[in-house]
Amino acid sequence: MYLKEMTLKNFRNYRDVNLVFSPQINVLIGENAQGKTNLLEAIYVLAMARSHRTNNERELVNFAKDEALIQGILERKLSKLKLELFLGKKGKKAKVNHLEQAKLSQYIGQMNVILFAPEDLALVKGSPAVRRKFIDMEFGQIDAHYLYNLSQYRVLLKQRNHYLKQLQLKKAKDLVLLEVLSDQIAAFGAEIIAKRIIFLDELEKYAQGVQAQITGQKEELKFNYDTSVENIYEKDVKQLYTDLKKLYETNQNKEIFQGSTLYGPHRDDVQFLINKKNVQVFGSQGQQRTTALAVKLAEIDVMKNETGEYPILLLDDVLSELDGARQTQLLRAIQDRVQTFLTTPSMSEVTRKLIKDPKVFRIEAGN
Ligand code: ATP
Ligand code: MG
Repeated sequence: MYLKEMTLKNFRNYRDVNLVFSPQINVLIGENAQGKTNLLEAIYVLAMARSHRTNNERELVNFAKDEALIQGILERKLSKLKLELFLGKKGKKAKVNHLEQAKLSQYIGQMNVILFAPEDLALVKGSPAVRRKFIDMEFGQIDAHYLYNLSQYRVLLKQRNHYLKQLQLKKAKDLVLLEVLSDQIAAFGAEIIAKRIIFLDELEKYAQGVQAQITGQKEELKFNYDTSVENIYEKDVKQLYTDLKKLYETNQNKEIFQGSTLYGPHRDDVQFLINKKNVQVFGSQGQQRTTALAVKLAEIDVMKNETGEYPILLLDDVLSELDGARQTQLLRAIQDRVQTFLTTPSMSEVTRKLIKDPKVFRIEAGN
């Protein structure tokens, strides 16, 4: 798929612009603080109905205005969609082909994007919460059922934690209600873990390929899904459910004592291993960066398999972080395959030679 056209009204420092893109490589050049990242962010928001850099949607609207609008024409294999996202004081509205979507979860997933920015190093170096968020965002994009299970799980988690607090403070006594909540949350938790394992297996396969390519076969990348449920690889949803329930049963007193749900997908993590060693702990800067990039690029193929179409790739300031050889490998991997948006303060000789017919946008103060 590719984004053919985009109009921005009062989005960050863009007042009113209409841009027509290349289905292949689009290069956004500009000095610092001109709006390169803002433009990538607008594309991301159009796809995901949320920003990758802030949860405060007011920040997305121009300082001097109250409302912003992003419109895009998306060309898919078999259809052409007009996507619209309106950001106002009372929240956001999303439309597909002029029809307002009752739920944002219906809107998300029409347009698939993969974003890689310097802060994505946190995928390897950051806390487990960063990796869980990554998994949930990416898998949610390609599987509406996953997104649904996740939202149900979150609601139940809040209820269960609240109830555990009540029990802890002795404001409640009814353990049957706790068991009901445990049963419900285990059902959704099992679905989520099962899906994560399937997706991670697929992602691992492609990430291994990218890592090997970039490092000249020197580094073998492996994933390890870290969960309190035992022997997950031999289990199916039903068994995961039984196991989670058992965890809640055996640890009832501990959970009441802490007033919090201690087991389930919201506590899981995924570790990246290079040549069998955890890259978060033992990896060099370069290995960590390469791993983060490999994981992100692997998603291109996962999304292609899951949705039948290549996603749109957004690369923020990635080239400046890589040496010549890695820049070359990266550009080779994406050339001709996916629509790409690439920001850079300036075009180096290397990139000029490597990128075939880029469409170049010079960005200056939101113009
Ligand atoms: P760099 O090369 O440093 O990454 P950039 O071109 O990616 O720069 P952006 O992050 O896209 O820069 O844009 C930053 C500019 O946008 C800042 O000058 C900031 O003041 C401005 N800006 C951010 N939010 C808003 C907003 N809501 N309204 C108006 N301007 C904004
Ligand atoms: Mg930037």
